[in-house]
Amino acid sequence: MQRITILGATGSIGESTLDVVRRHPDRYTVHALTAHRQVRKLAEQCIAFRPARAVVGSAEAAGELQALLRDAGVDTEVSHGEAELESVAADAQTDAVMAAIVGAAGLRPTLAAARAGKRVLLANKEALVMSGRIFMDAVREHGATLLPIDSEHNAIFQCLPADDPRYGGGVARVLLTASGGPFRTRDPDTLHDISPDEACAHPNWVMGRKISVDSATMMNKGLEVIEAHWLFGAPAERIEVLIHPQSIVHSMVAYHDGSVLAQLGNPDMRTPIAYGLAYPERIDAGVTPLDLTLAGGLHFEKPDLQRFPCLGLAFDALRAGGVAPTVLNAANEVAVEAFLGGKVRFTDIAQLVAQVLQAAPAGAADTLDAILDADRMARAAARAAVAGLALRH
Ligand code: NAD
Ligand code: MG
Repeated sequence: MQRITILGATGSIGESTLDVVRRHPDRYTVHALTAHRQVRKLAEQCIAFRPARAVVGSAEAAGELQALLRDAGVDTEVSHGEAELESVAADAQTDAVMAAIVGAAGLRPTLAAARAGKRVLLANKEALVMSGRIFMDAVREHGATLLPIDSEHNAIFQCLPADDPRYGGGVARVLLTASGGPFRTRDPDTLHDISPDEACAHPNWVMGRKISVDSATMMNKGLEVIEAHWLFGAPAERIEVLIHPQSIVHSMVAYHDGSVLAQLGNPDMRTPIAYGLAYPERIDAGVTPLDLTLAGGLHFEKPDLQRFPCLGLAFDALRAGGVAPTVLNAANEVAVEAFLGGKVRFTDIAQLVAQVLQAAPAGAADTLDAILDADRMARAAARAAVAGLALRH
């Protein structure tokens, strides 16, 4: 029996994880569930899965959750705050941790799981982008098992040699596929007045709002390039992005002998989640089997960096190294939040990130303090830039 903690249980990845867990009561029990604000949804999950512990974002939310669980006769222990997130991630009573909090908020608890030597199912790419070296060192030093859940990285993991899932061993290139999002073919002159709902209407995937906007700007692919660099040790020039609008080929690995291995499937996050949960076994994930005769052709094209400047910015940050990826991520989080809140335009996101990256001091990313400082400074700079733009619009 594997005991699971799900950080970010009420999100899109969290819900898909519980859907897979529900199919295998003989293999998995839920040790802890966490959510930030969605108390009612978390209460329903606790009633269904009876975790030992639940963590929410505030004392008020904890009080509400306690009351709901008391009425339902569920004796889950409820607590709140960041230290409690780290505590459930490192708990001796849990074997595996699904890291599915969105954004920088996921960094500390995900790192805590790695330091406790857990099986870490990594969905939260922002944590790795911010702190790649520290995180990968923690995994190694504490004997954690790191399984990528991001569909592209999960695909690459499956296509790399099983005995050494790192770049090397005859690998020539890593090919990351990208759908191109909802604006792949839209007239670039109309991109400035896109609404948040339009940006979140992804053609192939249903996801949280932050990652949906990232997919529309292709910053998501940029973050994934940096994620691939850390997960697999691949240098920037060996990571290639390919637009593939059907989202059937989830990514590929090209070898020196000319072989290219790909992982295919319908776009459903339950596939990589089930892979991470059961690795190295395979279990039913509830996913519709792929019928390639219905796919209507698989297409591939080069990404257009004029249309998607965020992708180029991410490559720049990866090449610059140090805290540049941390700054990129922080500025992007602030810019996306401002866009979702109606404060800035869609096209301002790339502008803001570029501006903050350019002005930020370079620095090494070798301590958590240095990373958190760079994150704080970049957020402050991005907020000031948002305020300036909001005045002009
Ligand atoms: P989501 O917005 O649907 O859910 C986010 C979860 O994080 C929620 O449970 C929320 O309660 C929690 N949360 C938010 N802010 C928090 C905070 N400050 N402190 C603690 N908890 C907080 O997001 P999602 O789409 O499920 O994505 C989660 C992560 O997985 C992201 O990092 C995303 O990039 C990554 N990811 C998602 C998908 C997908 O298909 N949704 C695919 C690949 C990677
Ligand atoms: Mg992805």
